[in-house]
Amino acid sequence: MLVVKIGGGSGIQIAPTVTDVTTLIRAGGKAVLVHGASGETNLLAERLGKPPRFVTSVSGLESRYTDRETLEIFEMAYCGKGNKALVEAFQTLGINAVGLSGLDGRIFEGKRKDTITIFDGGKRKVLRGDYTGKVERVNLGLVTLLLDHGYLPVLCPPAASYEGEAVNVDGDTAAAMLAAALKADDFLMLSNVPGLLRDIADRDSLIARIPAEAIEDFMPLAQGRMKRKLMAAAIALQGGVGRVILAPANVAQPVASALEGRGTVIG
Ligand code: ADP
Repeated sequence: MLVVKIGGGSGIQIAPTVTDVTTLIRAGGKAVLVHGASGETNLLAERLGKPPRFVTSVSGLESRYTDRETLEIFEMAYCGKGNKALVEAFQTLGINAVGLSGLDGRIFEGKRKDTITIFDGGKRKVLRGDYTGKVERVNLGLVTLLLDHGYLPVLCPPAASYEGEAVNVDGDTAAAMLAAALKADDFLMLSNVPGLLRDIADRDSLIARIPAEAIEDFMPLAQGRMKRKLMAAAIALQGGVGRVILAPANVAQPVASALEGRGTVIG
């Protein structure tokens, strides 16, 4: 079992991943795809006159401030354009993909954090009305139902809160929880970087291998969203996933080459 998370930053190409996953499935492999759509969300938000707002929590993690209107824009980009582009790409190659968000069938479930404490110009500030959360549970029922009938699940945030509301959650963490629930052999996180870089300005400074027990030691190198990827890697490995690989999406055969060990192999 393979879980592939493909990033949704601007400039990420889906075609190489779709082609590669198709080859894998045709060869008899099983896979689930999870995707982001942050670039598209930002574009759409700008176009709709509601520019994105990113906040850094007191614990140092960056997230999108998601009021109700932002949540709706987020859903348009993730469940709409982002998800359907992937499903369409698979369908044109003859793979029967089904696109669902974590809200559908409560695949991803967790607690809503309606307030978030941030530092704003050095001052602590509490923001209310936030529709963000953290995936704490994966309900596999619908996913295994689809897999058992030969469908390829293509999943994305939002998740369902325990009250049933849609909540914006980190896609890497959701995918890691899913990989753990499925006891995946491999969990790939494909994005716009070759993997974890020692120096983010130097694409040749790739860290090729991180032993599972050493993830914390590498955390200081990761800034911004890369922090979440390392945290997601730790979640997956603790949950019984065999290997986690951070690899680039915009290369030929991104899945096959990551599985051959190119990128940052963790575990
Ligand atoms: P996604 O495509 O999943 O949304 P992100 O763009 O959020 O992925 O995460 C990858 C980003 O992490 C890179 O574009 C890069 O700017 C950032 N980053 C921070 N620190 C590092 C690092 N040490 N090595 C590689 N990327 C890093």
